[in-house]
Amino acid sequence: EVAIYKERNAESLARYERACRVLPGGSTRATLYYPPFPVVIERGENNFLFDADGHKYLNFVGEYTAGLYGHNEEMLRDILSEIGKRGLMLSGPNIYEEKLADIICTRFQSISKVRFCNSGTEANLLALALARNATRKETALVFKGAYHGGFLTFGASGAPLNVPMKALIGAYNDVEGTRALIEKNKDELGAIIVEPMMGSGGCIAGDPVFLEMLRTAASEHDIVLIFDEVMTSRLSPGGLQEKLGIEPDLTSLGKYIGGGFSCGALGGRDELMSMFDLRRENGLSHAGTFNNNIASMIGGSIGLGKYFTGEACVSLNARGDKLRERLNEIAKEANTPVQVTGIGSVMNPHLGLETIKSPDDINHPNLQLFRMLMHLHMMNRGFYVASRGLITLNLKSTDDDIEAFEREFENFLQIYGAALC
Ligand code: PMP
Repeated sequence: EVAIYKERNAESLARYERACRVLPGGSTRATLYYPPFPVVIERGENNFLFDADGHKYLNFVGEYTAGLYGHNEEMLRDILSEIGKRGLMLSGPNIYEEKLADIICTRFQSISKVRFCNSGTEANLLALALARNATRKETALVFKGAYHGGFLTFGASGAPLNVPMKALIGAYNDVEGTRALIEKNKDELGAIIVEPMMGSGGCIAGDPVFLEMLRTAASEHDIVLIFDEVMTSRLSPGGLQEKLGIEPDLTSLGKYIGGGFSCGALGGRDELMSMFDLRRENGLSHAGTFNNNIASMIGGSIGLGKYFTGEACVSLNARGDKLRERLNEIAKEANTPVQVTGIGSVMNPHLGLETIKSPDDINHPNLQLFRMLMHLHMMNRGFYVASRGLITLNLKSTDDDIEAFEREFENFLQIYGAALC
């Protein structure tokens, strides 16, 4: 597969090598690197991507869940026409900021007020800063293998950058161990930050009992519970928290929330969020030139208001559930030890059949080989998938696209399945 890949992608390699002269590692996103070299993408159309060598791919990366809308020309026209009417860089509050905030506050039960920023990373940094100011406690409980952004990575590949709060690292889905850890450190813990489904860690669903325990312990000990729903908020109209029936104190959002433009948001309980109100004495200053930039505010309000409606969300995730079930059936029928985890439209295949409760359970001796083979096999046949295995559906994924993916996955297991056991 490596040889085929290299042969197919000569132009991408040339461009990648050229980019390495001026960009360390050829790009500004750690996520986008994979060996032997990543293909360079030229453009997108509906559910297709086209690379520098002229290949056409069905897009199952979906910009690591941010590309929820697919490449939707009509939506882009709607947004650009509105931006055209208003202009950029307006130097003041704008109506779309309020519109997007309204949509978010209406959808998410636990959110009564919102602050916008530029990325999911920033939303989480803001959440931690707010928790620290609110509790005057400086440590945050995080979970091994969690990803909360480029500066908030706990145990993924590559060395982590420094974290602005002291981090105490717990084990995901370990109810008793984590409860004890919280009890022991309750006087130092100002925040618990958790993904209700670990996304980058491998699409590992949080056990409702575990998440419920975090809710109870946080309330008991004056700790701010932060749900990082940057990836998971798309799984139900009111976020994964709605499905779970658990209300965090703060929720971080990002990815699709700006309609494809860069955007992050932090929302939560009035009492906490109102600490940003500058009409109050000692109101917290949260500044940022692009926080309310009109492109993201228009993009988000049109995206959520018109395209990713509640119904569209439910239907997309039902299709995702069906795909995941089907992939699991295919693996079983092919007699291969492969399971696909995830929720709704976001999923990840793994090697090994034991229940996966934390990223530590994913380590199979052939894991790297499995990932590399699956990735290059699918890429070489026109299916754009993430090197770590993440698969997402978007609003432009058709039933035919999904069926074609199922068939190629089956083909992959038939060719390589036996070798992977
Ligand atoms: N939190 C989670 C759960 C994420 O998946 C991501 C992005 N993959 C982030 C935070 C960071 O968001 P951004 O890339 O917009 O900074």
